[in-house]
Amino acid sequence: MSKREKSVNALESPVTEVEAEFPERHVLIKCPGCRRVIDQSKLSENLDVCPRCGRHLRVSGRKRMRITVDAGTFEEWDAGLAATDFLEFPGYAEKLAAAREKSHENDAVVCGRGKVGGQDCALFFMNAEFMMGSMGSVVGEKICRTFERARELGLPVVGFTVSGGARMQEGTTSLMQMAKVSAAVRRHSEAGLLYVTVLTDPTTGGVTASFAMEGDVILAEPGALVGFAGPRVVEQTTHKKLPAGFQRSEFLLEHGFCDLIVERRDMVATIAELLVLHRGEVPAGSPHALTHEEPRRGRGARPKRTPEPASAYDIVKLTRSTERATALELVERGLDGFVELHGDRLFADDAAVVAGIGWRGGRVMTVIAIERGNSTKERVRRNFGMAHPEGYRKALRLMRQAEKFHRPVLCLVDTSGAYCGIGAEERGQGEAIATNLVAMSGLETPIVSVVVGEGGSGGALALAVADRVLMLGSAAYSVVSPEGCASILWKDTKRADEAAAALRITASDLSELGLVDGVVPDLGLTHTEIAHDLMREVELALDELGGLSTGELLSRRYDKFRAMGGDRICSR
Ligand SMILES: [Zn+2]
Repeated sequence: MSKREKSVNALESPVTEVEAEFPERHVLIKCPGCRRVIDQSKLSENLDVCPRCGRHLRVSGRKRMRITVDAGTFEEWDAGLAATDFLEFPGYAEKLAAAREKSHENDAVVCGRGKVGGQDCALFFMNAEFMMGSMGSVVGEKICRTFERARELGLPVVGFTVSGGARMQEGTTSLMQMAKVSAAVRRHSEAGLLYVTVLTDPTTGGVTASFAMEGDVILAEPGALVGFAGPRVVEQTTHKKLPAGFQRSEFLLEHGFCDLIVERRDMVATIAELLVLHRGEVPAGSPHALTHEEPRRGRGARPKRTPEPASAYDIVKLTRSTERATALELVERGLDGFVELHGDRLFADDAAVVAGIGWRGGRVMTVIAIERGNSTKERVRRNFGMAHPEGYRKALRLMRQAEKFHRPVLCLVDTSGAYCGIGAEERGQGEAIATNLVAMSGLETPIVSVVVGEGGSGGALALAVADRVLMLGSAAYSVVSPEGCASILWKDTKRADEAAAALRITASDLSELGLVDGVVPDLGLTHTEIAHDLMREVELALDELGGLSTGELLSRRYDKFRAMGGDRICSR
């Protein structure tokens, strides 16, 4: 630990009585981010975030509790549990004594229950000031008991992690705390309860490899170092210089391992919102509420006088028009609020698939939308709405979450197809789509999918095995693009027009064929009007589906897809 870090940490310990007697005393701290000197009281007012560079400095577990839990609501659990030197490990007894004296705590975690933004929950706050938040028997026992009590009380758990890893001085017993807590997390989860993790700087080793990564929702503070092996170990093992930002929160988000990066000042509101949403209720005064101001100018302000499409191919061309509302735009115009959650927890966060929790009226739902972007820059970033396997895997992760919390799922589909690329094949594009098809056929919550633009083959179907499949009037849904069909069958892409007609891919064709359940007219309407008409249809569908038992829901879903094509064959 550098001298600078030491001085910062020393000042973060709980205020002692001596300090309280001299409140006017000025203490200066050098920010490790921008190296400027800041008055401690200013820093404290700003929740220990540097007012100049935004660096989130470390805070003790107890201070974290104070800035997170509503004043006067915290009931501490197991404060008296303390470690013993049962291995008679050299120097451990002295280290424990020094850590107790320095931190005024018995060990490296504070547990209990309280309210966050008015919402009841169980909580744990790890403490870097006690042996760098290392996890031995006491940390394991206290967090395990927190999950067990929360399960009995029917409470969600919110846990702030910070740790150097397992505590070596307690040997393999420390290792076993990872298994012990994970088993308690599982039981808590099986009771249908929410677990939110907040990763703070630094979270490493056995804590990362257990309960830090087990949250239903994983939040992270900006710039926090989070990894299994510490950067020094990685560097020594690989003999490579690590890239800037390696193992920081932003790296985690990009690689699909956290849902959201949340600044400290927004943490309480974000946690409270998640707690409310996961009870199936709509949050009041939410940081993610959507405002619906009509744009005065620009796209979607007034409907363009689109000529009635004359042919199926005209419709296909219309689905590719840049004038068209994208899926995310329909979400933003049609819902009252939306929190985006990121990542597949496996490889990356695919920007072509936007997923999260949305609400409208009194209803909360998981929303998954294939987004192609509405500017050149956005279209490139979103890979023109062509998802990679990680996009489908993110969708599936959030559908599973919807199932656990009894939320319905809404999918908005607009893609020319799943991305055809080397990486996509290496990571199993086919496997990802296949897994979604089988999972969606049995997902124990209502699913409504709407094709809002192009429904391109398997890449579209991977989000459309639904109880209700709707289409916008000017959308198309097809096994192959008309150009692809013309090229493959007739070796002539100029015959795309002919192919589009032959494939019968318009909303009216597909209704007639019994492959979609309803059409939402959209020609001549503004983007806002389309969004509202679409969401109204979705609400009607969900009202109806919500009245079915899970068994009935699943057997109807099965029967619906089971019937497709069976009526189009004959025996000879
Ligand atoms: Zn700074």
